[in-house]
Amino acid sequence: MITDLELLLLDYASGALPEGAALAVATKLAMDPSARTDMQLLEAAGGALFDGIDPEALSDDLLATTLDRLDGEAGPPALLPLPDEDTRRLLPAPLWRYAPRGLDGLRWRDWGRNVREAVLPLADRSHRATLLHIRGGHGVLQHTHHGMEYTVVLSGSFRDESGQYGPGALQVCDGTVRHKPIADPGADCLCLGVVSAPLHFTGLVGRFINPKVRF
Ligand code: ZN
Repeated sequence: MITDLELLLLDYASGALPEGAALAVATKLAMDPSARTDMQLLEAAGGALFDGIDPEALSDDLLATTLDRLDGEAGPPALLPLPDEDTRRLLPAPLWRYAPRGLDGLRWRDWGRNVREAVLPLADRSHRATLLHIRGGHGVLQHTHHGMEYTVVLSGSFRDESGQYGPGALQVCDGTVRHKPIADPGADCLCLGVVSAPLHFTGLVGRFINPKVRF
């Protein structure tokens, strides 16, 4: 049976994902060798599938995008400025083009004393992508989601009601999930967070915070 991650990888390979979701998957792939192996298996299966399909049955755009992805030809445009060495060490390569002036060149915003976030400049505004820095032992308020939420752990780890997530883990949440992610004590947690709609904070505090949440 095909897993949710495999479905997401298939969508990524076919170019069906919007920029924000594709960025989350690309970041996951850059950090997780086993996901890259899954991807290669899916690509091989996809190639075999295409062998049996009349290309005329596919739209030109989808076919071109899919073949580009499968050939590994799709990538960041050349001549983009690279961020500094520290940033390249801390961020996987798919994120570099979104932080050309490095982590310090991003506009960080504090959410209380323990959580900071910096918005990444997606061209496609249907999603919002941020780097989220959470101090060890602290977390994000309990919330649910009006859309999709993709979280990739870049360093450190966090846990919520569904388990623990370490470097390279991708968590996908939707409106059926209500959770309270907390960074594990001892190390700060840096994540990529991508959402297709503002988070909806629950509980009493949410009533005050939700109107202030920007997208
Ligand atoms: Zn969430």
